[in-house]
Amino acid sequence: MVRDLRNRPLRDLRISLTDRCNMRCRYCMPREHFENHDFLDKQEILSYEELTLVVESLVPLGLAKVRLTGGEPLLRRDVCDFIKMLPQELDIAMTTNGLLLEKYAHDLALSGLNRVTVSLDAIDIETFQAMGDTKDTPETVLRGIETARKAGLSVKVNCVVRAGYNEHSVEKITERFIGTDVVVRFIEFMDVGETNSWQDQEVITGQMMRSMLDNLVKIEPTYVGEVANRYQRGKQEIGFIESVSKPFCGDCNRARLSADGSLYTCLFASKGNDLKGIIRMDATKKQIANAVRTIWSSRDDAYSENRGSGETEKVEMSFIGG
Ligand code: SAM
Ligand code: SF4
Ligand code: SF4
Repeated sequence: MVRDLRNRPLRDLRISLTDRCNMRCRYCMPREHFENHDFLDKQEILSYEELTLVVESLVPLGLAKVRLTGGEPLLRRDVCDFIKMLPQELDIAMTTNGLLLEKYAHDLALSGLNRVTVSLDAIDIETFQAMGDTKDTPETVLRGIETARKAGLSVKVNCVVRAGYNEHSVEKITERFIGTDVVVRFIEFMDVGETNSWQDQEVITGQMMRSMLDNLVKIEPTYVGEVANRYQRGKQEIGFIESVSKPFCGDCNRARLSADGSLYTCLFASKGNDLKGIIRMDATKKQIANAVRTIWSSRDDAYSENRGSGETEKVEMSFIGG
């Protein structure tokens, strides 16, 4: 097993399958910045065979989980074929905006996907369309969630809460999933990337969100490195991802692989470590593992604990994968 300079293992790989998206969430890909954006060309993106090679190389280093994300992962063609290629002993999850979930949920479950996290910032159409800068509706996402549950996938809902936009979603989304097995998690608006005009006045902290809900009882984390602080409300589980007000770098065991094959050791990094170069020079699994071991062993990232202390330009979240 490989450990970084803070003794953190590498357990979780988030793979960005594409830098493209069918939404333009204001907090992630503001339209004015992404209108004339140069998205990656097909030949720049790692193929499914190349991605599988990376994943298989990392298993001996201690990798236990893979999360497929993006951009919007369901925009990548034949994603189910890729899931079937992955080592099935891994915990395989996906984060999606859910717009295409109704169409793919059954095939995803059959392919070996274990869990899906669906982003949903509002139940009311006005807020959903304003935050996502989209003409799509929350109904489409809700149908996707229902289909995924029926297909046997374990489902979580992620809701980013941003002051002035969707504070009311804390109550509304919690209520919407009462009586279901869907775990709802509320996320503090983060200063990822350089385009979302983040300001700290727009952060609704986990503490503020909890004050909007009654009868919350704190429960223990299920594993080391869990990002959400878990609460129970009756039979319902609610999580709060408080990376601004309560950073959790101490247990961060996540690496991110951009669609063009760079490995990032922090969500707030400005630079990745190119793996595509060695992959396309026919590196063996052992050589890829050695390269990643070297990168991870010198990792000292803890951005959220030192927020605002003179960072250089941060990469966009839609590029490295949320
Ligand atoms: N498109 C997919 C989706 O939206 O679920 C996957 C990629 S998206 C970058 C992954 C997650 O990052 C989503 O749950 C999204 O809400 C979250 N996210 C994006 N920008 C964020 C920000 N500025 N603060 C907090 N969460 C953010
Ligand atoms: Fe797309 Fe997800 Fe970013 Fe929204 S949060 S713009 S759905 S990548
Ligand atoms: Fe991990 Fe970086 Fe986030 Fe800290 S800021 S939890 S090191 S990704």
